[in-house]
Amino acid sequence: MALRRFSVTTTDRCQMQPITAQVQEAVAELGIRAGQCCVFVPHTTAGVTINENADPDVVHDLLHTLDRLVPRADQAYRHGEGNSAAHLKALMTGSSVTVLVEDGRLALGTWQGIFFCEFDGPRQRQVLVG
Ligand code: ZN
Repeated sequence: MALRRFSVTTTDRCQMQPITAQVQEAVAELGIRAGQCCVFVPHTTAGVTINENADPDVVHDLLHTLDRLVPRADQAYRHGEGNSAAHLKALMTGSSVTVLVEDGRLALGTWQGIFFCEFDGPRQRQVLVG
């Protein structure tokens, strides 16, 4: 299976970066006209998800709630790198999404967008599409 890879440069510790356009471009480059594509993030402190891409307050609320659910510091954490909260948030979002493709276009709903989820930035990250 052919793959396409693109970079995402994140600027904050935690952020959700829209990547729908880059995934659509990769689907076109791969020549996928109908079927599905997989968007995969090869990282353990970042993830990928599909959510609302219309009202930016949704992204704010999602990140705010993840922060509330997963404390950045917890005395029970053992991981010496000090980024266990980022690993936990990546666990919650997952490292891949599958999107159906119809007539060469991502078959997303009206309000849906694909987001790269950074939980331990800022960093240079990779996204694979296949
Ligand atoms: Zn770590």
